[in-house]
Amino acid sequence: MTTVAFIGLGNMGGPMAVNLIKAGMTVRVFDLVPAAMQSLAEQGAITAQSACGAAAGADVVVTMLPAGKHVRSLYLGSEQQQGLLDVVAEGTLLIDSSTIDADSARTVAAAAAAKGFEFVDAPVSGGTAGAAAGTLTFICGGSDAGFAKAKPVLECMGANIFHAGSAGAGQVAKICNNMLLSVLMVGTSEALSLGIDNGLDPKVLSDIMKVSSGGNWTLEKYNPCPGVMPSVPSSNDYQGGFMVDLMVKDLGLSQEAALSSQSSTPMGALARSLYVNHARKGNGRRDFSSIFEQFKQEK
Ligand code: NAD
Repeated sequence: MTTVAFIGLGNMGGPMAVNLIKAGMTVRVFDLVPAAMQSLAEQGAITAQSACGAAAGADVVVTMLPAGKHVRSLYLGSEQQQGLLDVVAEGTLLIDSSTIDADSARTVAAAAAAKGFEFVDAPVSGGTAGAAAGTLTFICGGSDAGFAKAKPVLECMGANIFHAGSAGAGQVAKICNNMLLSVLMVGTSEALSLGIDNGLDPKVLSDIMKVSSGGNWTLEKYNPCPGVMPSVPSSNDYQGGFMVDLMVKDLGLSQEAALSSQSSTPMGALARSLYVNHARKGNGRRDFSSIFEQFKQEK
């Protein structure tokens, strides 16, 4: 039976690890938050005392952490602390599904390759609902051999598994996607608010735009206006889902990439500015669809 070490059991990692258990794998888990581990233990996971403790002897390691600095320090370690690369057994496949900068992914991949390990960057799209349903899209970067080994594991957690290219390519594709998502979310929020301000019912307007030329993923799956769609963060006071702080991080990554490649990304730059402003008003831990409130007329 395959043993997977799963590290980082937050909004995404928790439900992803549950799907590996459901697929019949032995899953060892670690998170800095004990309650997150407890919840997984109740669903059949084995808890570990540390990330290295979970990873030592596992066939596969999956990490789902906030940002590049967490991924680098966990895999590479420091003078004071061992990293995962110091403890994993020969042949262990390493998969990082966090959304991080491509340079960090390439740095860890190179360090892993120097020790004979395959490292695949495999960021995801599909949100917390996709993580729970096992329908995530995985966007991978790495060697052909690493991708071929990772695919059957990722298929236990996702419906679409893409190989975008070599190390770091998954992260590049992911930040392009999230930059576009932020632009769609802001545009959808301002269009719905314009309709409401001019007397329209947001549900009726959403139904119209969904099948018209303005139709997009946010209207179909993640409407930002409270009460239009059940079971999305906007209908739950913008709790759960994908935090504004994480969107700010991803928009920063896309702007850094644009700077280094001299690409013109004016919509991404504006979306980043709007999201930074939204975070500064105390919304950092709310779902990113809460940007809708920035367009709402105060009664
Ligand atoms: P989260 O903050 O809910 O979870 C991150 C978890 O990592 C936390 O439980 C934290 O305690 C843990 N952690 C941090 N450092 C650790 C360490 N050194 N060892 C062990 N655990 C550690 O974040 P999330 O929403 O689950 O997102 C995780 C990643 O997935 C981010 O990179 C995010 O950008 C990306 N992502 C999120 C979504 C979403 O909808 N939430 C969608 C796609 C991608």
